[in-house]
Parts: sequence; structure tokens; C-alpha cells
Amino acid sequence: AKSAGGNRYELADAEADARAITRHGLTTALPAALDRGEFFIEYQPLVHLGDGSVHGAEALVRWLHPQHGVLGPDRFIPLAEHTGLIVPLGRWVLEQSVRQAREWQERHSGAGPLRINVNLSPCQLTHPGLVSDTVDILERVGLEPDSLCLEVTESALIGADDDLLKPLRRLAEMGVDIALDDFGTGYSNLANLRRLPVSILKLDRSFTQGMQQFPADPVDLKIVEGIVSLAHSLDLAVTVEGVETGAQAEQLRLLGCDTAQGWYYARPGPPDRLHDLALIDATG
Ligand code: C2E
Ligand code: CA
Ligand code: CA
Ligand code: CA
Repeated sequence: AKSAGGNRYELADAEADARAITRHGLTTALPAALDRGEFFIEYQPLVHLGDGSVHGAEALVRWLHPQHGVLGPDRFIPLAEHTGLIVPLGRWVLEQSVRQAREWQERHSGAGPLRINVNLSPCQLTHPGLVSDTVDILERVGLEPDSLCLEVTESALIGADDDLLKPLRRLAEMGVDIALDDFGTGYSNLANLRRLPVSILKLDRSFTQGMQQFPADPVDLKIVEGIVSLAHSLDLAVTVEGVETGAQAEQLRLLGCDTAQGWYYARPGPPDRLHDLALIDATG
């Protein structure tokens, strides 16, 4: 008879195989999925910490797979990056999101423009069409560049040379905001921030998690306080991610963070829900 250890090994092996098969299957299914319209976007509001009013929304892509159901981006974005499909997929996400922002602005009487945040993968950054595609989409849809924010992870920009920064600088000059996503996870040189064409820091969720107790751990408070004051002295706004409780929101507000995003306000959802939230805010 086989030992328990042997069985466990076989089980783990079988699971690894199943995962590899799924990965392979998903990878080969990606291009047709884009043609068939199996991707969709959920939007999560960004709110002002001061008064809780809706400031904008982040676009988060999902895949409605015919067999596996709804897949989150962590399941397929790495595969799309590996195969290069991220470039057309990213362009599709950008166009959909820009159209959605335009629609919100048209329906949004008087409550200030709604802004849209879109994630950029490192492959899109190095793709030569980034600036022209973005300009083309904004012009065709008729959205002002300053209604758009492109989010780039801190790790994608660590050690970035001028060639990599040039397209981002061009976009920033046009008025597009560039946000440094997952800030605080990449060990970047803080002095390096001055070199980057960014106007927003998105503080990673790990910092927000440290604010679960009230009062929070004094060391965590000091770290966030330091980042916020450095950011503000460089004229950068600070957005915090992953706010799940009122206690977190309150402490982050007291620390001077500007905007927030998280389940406490709303989970990512369909665009109409965000429109309703914005309307409630405009009248309340
Ligand atoms: P991200 O840019 O850091 O996005 C924030 C993630 O945190 C989202 O996960 C969001 O659903 C989740 N989140 C929001 N509020 C909370 C909260 O209060 N608590 C917790 N625990 N989580 C919260 P999601 O939608 O699964 O996206 C994961 C990542 O996939 C994103 O991380 C982003 O890096 C990437 N991604 C999503 N859409 C796109 C896209 O269109 N293009 C590219 N290149 N990447 C994308
Ligand atoms: Ca993001
Ligand atoms: Ca993030
Ligand atoms: Ca309000």
C-alpha cells in the first residue's frame, strides 16, 4: 500500500497539473475572449476623505469565462502580459473606461466632473503606441485629459530610465494624472519620486491594514504620517487603498490622506451603481 505521504504528493502533483492545464487553457482562450466580448469592467468609487463625496472611480477588469465563470484580473492579467495580449486588452479597457467617464459626466448635472482611473501594465508602458492610442481615445470620445488618471505600479517604475518615463511625461504634460500604484511595497528610493511624472501616490493596502485598531500602532502611524507629509511637500496627493472600516477611514483622514477607496465605501460594481452613488452624494 502507498504511504499517506505518497498520496499527498500525488494529490499535490495532480493539483499542480490541473492548474497548469487551466493556465494553458486560459492563455489560449484569451484572444478569442477579447473578440467575443467576454471581458467586462467593474468600477470602484474613490472618495474624498474629508466629506465622503465621490471623486472618481477605478476601472477593474474581469473575464466572464463560459466555463469557469467570473475570473478576477489576478487569474488572467499575468497570462495576458506574458502573451502580449495585454496591449489590445489594455487598450480596450482604456476605451471602455473613458467612454464610461464621459457618460457619467454627461448625466452628472452640476456635481463636478467624475474622474476615471485606469491601470497600466508594464508592457503597455514600453509599447510605442501608448501616447498616440491614449490621445486618440480621448479625442474620439471627447473626454478632457485631466479627467483621466493612469495607474502605474511603483515596481514598474523602479530604476526606470528616461526612455521609459518619456511617454508618461508626455501624458502628464497633456494633463493626464499619473498615479504610483501599490506605493510602499517596492522599496523605491523616496528621493527618486521627484524624477517621476506622478501626481498621486496610492498607498498600498498593507498600510491600511495596520490601521485596523483604534488607535493604530504608533509606528504604523508615524510611517504613514511621514509618507503623507513627504508626498504633500512634493505636491502629490495621497490615495489610500483597501479601507474596510470607519476606524481606518477616520485615522487615515486625521493623517492627512486625501482620497480613499475600499469596501467600507463600496465594492467594485457595475457602472450604474456608481452613477447612483454619485447622485446621492450630489444631493446629500
Ligand atoms: P489594484 O490596482 O491594486 O486594485 C485594487 C484591488 O483591491 C482590486 O482587486 C480591488 O477589488 C481590491 N480592493 C478594493 N477595495 C478593497 C478592500 O477594501 N479590501 C480588499 N481586501 N481589497 C479591496 P482586483 O479587482 O482583484 O484587481 C487586482 C489587480 O489586478 C489590481 O490591483 C490591478 O493591479 C490588476 N488589474 C485590474 N484591472 C486591470 C486592468 O485593466 N489592467 C491591468 N494592467 N491590471 C489590472
Ligand atoms: Ca490600481
Ligand atoms: Ca493598488
Ligand atoms: Ca456629500
